[in-house]
Amino acid sequence: MGTIFPTAAPDEALNSEEPLTCDKALAPDGTEAYDAIVVGAGLAGLVAAHELSLAGKRVLILDQENRANLGGQAFWSLGGLFLVDSPEQRRLGVHDSLDLARQDWATSAGFDRDEDHWPRQWAEAYLEFAAGDKRRYLHDLGLRLTPIVGWAERGGSGSSEHGNSVPRFHLAWGTGPEVVRVFREPVEQAESAGLVTMGFRHRVDELVVEDGGNGDGASVVGVRGSTLAPSHTGRGIASNREEVGDFELRAPAIIVTSGGIGHNFELMRQYWPAERLGEFPQTMLAGVPAHVDGRMLSIAEDAGASLINRDRIWAYTEGIENWNPVWPNHGIRIIPGPSSLWFDAEGNRFPAPNYPGFDTNRTMKTILSTGHDYSWFVLNESIIRKEFALSGSEQNPDITKKDWRVTLDRVRSSDAPGPVEAFKRFGPDFVVADTTEDLVTGMNERSRGPVIDHDHLVDQIVERDRQMDHTFSKDAQVQAIHNARNYLGDKIVRVQKPHKILDPAHGPLIAVRLSLLSRKTLGGLETNLDAQVIGASGTPIPGLYAAGEVTGFGGGGMHGYNALEGTFLGGCIFSGMRAGRSVARSSGAGRTASEDEAAEVDRAGR
Ligand SMILES: Cc1cc2nc3c(=O)[nH]c(=O)nc-3n(C[C@H](O)[C@H](O)[C@H](O)COP(=O)(O)OP(=O)(O)OC[C@H]3O[C@@H](n4cnc5c(N)ncnc54)[C@H](O)[C@@H]3O)c2cc1C
Repeated sequence: MGTIFPTAAPDEALNSEEPLTCDKALAPDGTEAYDAIVVGAGLAGLVAAHELSLAGKRVLILDQENRANLGGQAFWSLGGLFLVDSPEQRRLGVHDSLDLARQDWATSAGFDRDEDHWPRQWAEAYLEFAAGDKRRYLHDLGLRLTPIVGWAERGGSGSSEHGNSVPRFHLAWGTGPEVVRVFREPVEQAESAGLVTMGFRHRVDELVVEDGGNGDGASVVGVRGSTLAPSHTGRGIASNREEVGDFELRAPAIIVTSGGIGHNFELMRQYWPAERLGEFPQTMLAGVPAHVDGRMLSIAEDAGASLINRDRIWAYTEGIENWNPVWPNHGIRIIPGPSSLWFDAEGNRFPAPNYPGFDTNRTMKTILSTGHDYSWFVLNESIIRKEFALSGSEQNPDITKKDWRVTLDRVRSSDAPGPVEAFKRFGPDFVVADTTEDLVTGMNERSRGPVIDHDHLVDQIVERDRQMDHTFSKDAQVQAIHNARNYLGDKIVRVQKPHKILDPAHGPLIAVRLSLLSRKTLGGLETNLDAQVIGASGTPIPGLYAAGEVTGFGGGGMHGYNALEGTFLGGCIFSGMRAGRSVARSSGAGRTASEDEAAEVDRAGR
């Protein structure tokens, strides 16, 4: 197994294997050696550790994987960041505002439960961050953005329904690895300075709960777990789970940043909202590495934590099998432009608004209601060249390597990007054909269910193609293509000029079998705005904090039922930041919440 973009070399992958024993964790004078223990060295954990080290706090970061995996899922991510009313949007003629973003978030989230108390507050705080300090916070750390803003989750059902009214998906220059780098480097500097200690191959199995006997009830005072046998595997490759020892470590604050459940299909099946989306699929690809195992959720629950909105899951409908996998059952998501025709397993075109990139959950429900767990894109060479982007840093080597020349060549080129071409050639889901007969034969060879009737499929393509003679149309998808090209960013890089799919000048024809793909966990540990984990009694559990995907990106599910995209990395950054600052405050140093706010206002004013 391997990737077309090099992963960390095995030599760099060596973990700090020396076990961290309880003795070692305690300072000689008996005081605690660490102000905080962070469980999980993904993005949220790195951000929390960064904020703590800025406040002069001593931090221990534990992770079950080796050092090669530092940064967790964020390394693999495309680096899409949700921002509101940014200079990049304005340059492209997009008029965005906090109010419009609030409207979109509220209609997408659909908060409707008592337990949405904290998620609602996190959503509001996150929106203010995305419209306020987020861009500057990342810019100050050295992160830069590409100039074109993507339009994800376009909705299509009306202004009071799910979706982004305007493009908001800002791509980090350097994709996910760069988002990781801007936090990893300062944390590594703090490690060199002795403020941060990293313990890899340390898997937390239990939170240590003690009753201080002072009437305040139980507190979380430490972690217990297993040291795992050394692993020299590269990034993302599933590692061994052989236990070679155990540990118990204590600190005044434990911050859980252990990620979601996306690779644990048993938990996914258990939590899956069958009544809302349909039965859990028989076949699903894994969009995340094996370490996204969700174990810490029940471990935190055992310590008294409240776990909410566990049935809110954000899986994708445009998954393709990775022909060159890194982790088991590795799937890649196509991020499609709006022109491909979308058919169910029987070859029936989906009704509005189930168009590519419009409304993930609605299309998920539509697909599962057919009784099959896959669907088809039908397109042609012209469309694939401009409209297929693949999610993931390794699928976008030009932007990931920050190579302007190659990136510009990609934009100007009349060919599909290299990784898309590779999928076309080697991907088991792709059919490329010069005739409709060969296309349908290829689709039926790859079918996991019914046989598609050639004439039925082609009739629907012809009917759609007859709508292409004007700039107006009764076909809602054709209208959407014209609409998209009114946005400069889409016109330049994303949406092909409208044309007939069966026009041989735009061939050959292409069909892509799409499977469902796991990814994000929208529910999780309930937290207040100080990132303190809420207990069963409704009050914070002393000593226990959480951030990132394990908290549903804040509060236990700040997205509600649907996401506007690019909000996950941002949710990890925002919640990791709040957790780090909150623990710094609680341990005596660092600024108070109002001092934090005053500092932001001061910086904004400068
Ligand atoms: C291919 C891909 C593309 C993506 N693209 C985007 C995008 O463009 N925009 C966006 O906003 N989001 C994107 N995401 C989502 C985003 O990357 C993740 O939601 C985010 O990085 C999660 O970060 P985290 O720190 O919460 O968790 P993780 O990255 O999962 O890190 C958790 C860490 O905790 C460790 N851990 C877990 N349990 C234990 C335990 N018991 N003991 C010790 N350690 C433990 C794990 O080993 C892991 O290192 C993408 C994700 C993927 C995979």
